[in-house]
Amino acid sequence: MQRIYSRALALLICAVMFGGLIGARPFSSATEHELLLTGASSISLLPARSVQSSILAGQAGARARAELPTEQADNRSLKEELMAELRSAAPAERFHTLALAAPIVAKPVPAMIPGNGPWMRGELVAQTQRLDLYVGKNTFSADQVADRAAKLERVLRAAEDYFGTTLTRRISLGFYSKPPKRGVRGMAYTSEGRVEIYYRPDEDIGRATTVAMHEIGHHLEAQRYGEAAQRRADTILHEGLATWIASIRWLDQCGATSWRERGRQLHDAGVPLRLLTAERSGADNAYELWASFVEYLVRQYGWKKFNALYASGRGRAPGSSDYERVLGKSIDELSDEWRAWLAQ
Ligand SMILES: [Zn+2]
Repeated sequence: MQRIYSRALALLICAVMFGGLIGARPFSSATEHELLLTGASSISLLPARSVQSSILAGQAGARARAELPTEQADNRSLKEELMAELRSAAPAERFHTLALAAPIVAKPVPAMIPGNGPWMRGELVAQTQRLDLYVGKNTFSADQVADRAAKLERVLRAAEDYFGTTLTRRISLGFYSKPPKRGVRGMAYTSEGRVEIYYRPDEDIGRATTVAMHEIGHHLEAQRYGEAAQRRADTILHEGLATWIASIRWLDQCGATSWRERGRQLHDAGVPLRLLTAERSGADNAYELWASFVEYLVRQYGWKKFNALYASGRGRAPGSSDYERVLGKSIDELSDEWRAWLAQ
């Protein structure tokens, strides 16, 4: 078990629970409470992945290569496509106002990353400029995922634009029915260049796409900060940032226009505004509170300080970053500032 646990840690796993993405959900049952409080154990129980690979797809057997016409993938069409899918009337404005790193301006389209991503279980159904897409059994169909290929590449580009870091390594993204632990919707294996998403055939592929964006966010974190820093990153910043990177989709599904608004919504719904113990209120709520804290930190202290803070993490425990040294304030003082900002 210890060996597996160590291996799992080395894989830098991070999971999205994604119960509903709908409103505030203080935990309502003992089962859910237990699940969320023991979230770390989902890591230790992970089986070795390779032995499950009964149907490894040979790259040559790919049923489709969805190579996207690069010239059509400018930022304008990217945004328009994202907006068209989102329900709310004002996401375009939101996309601009939320981008703290830099205004969204036309940038060169990221180049095709040649070669193949890592092999995954199931069938390779499409390859985009930077993503290999796999499908297992009893999840979305191969056609559904192949049809989604261009969208997923655009989601990657939106995440890159928002965060300001570009993927340099081709990654594989696989859809499966059975998560390693109940309630888990996605996992990022950043050291291996893989993402797994867990959805059943009748579920909403739009929500699965949002989970994919969060997991892609972890890969971008690893890209910016390095594997070693991500391995010891404070969960508050690690999960908060991946959720923040997925802002455009995640906030829309919450019916909020900003992380400040989302924080207020959670508060109004009775979710305690506590960072260190946020997971007691459910994983989704925790991730959203942490994303709003990330937004506050970036706005108040800037990216340079935030990056140093992220890199100062001393383990996955919430609060492990060296807030005192980097920002001159304790996590409790910063929590007070963040709550005051939400209340403004
Ligand atoms: Zn995550």
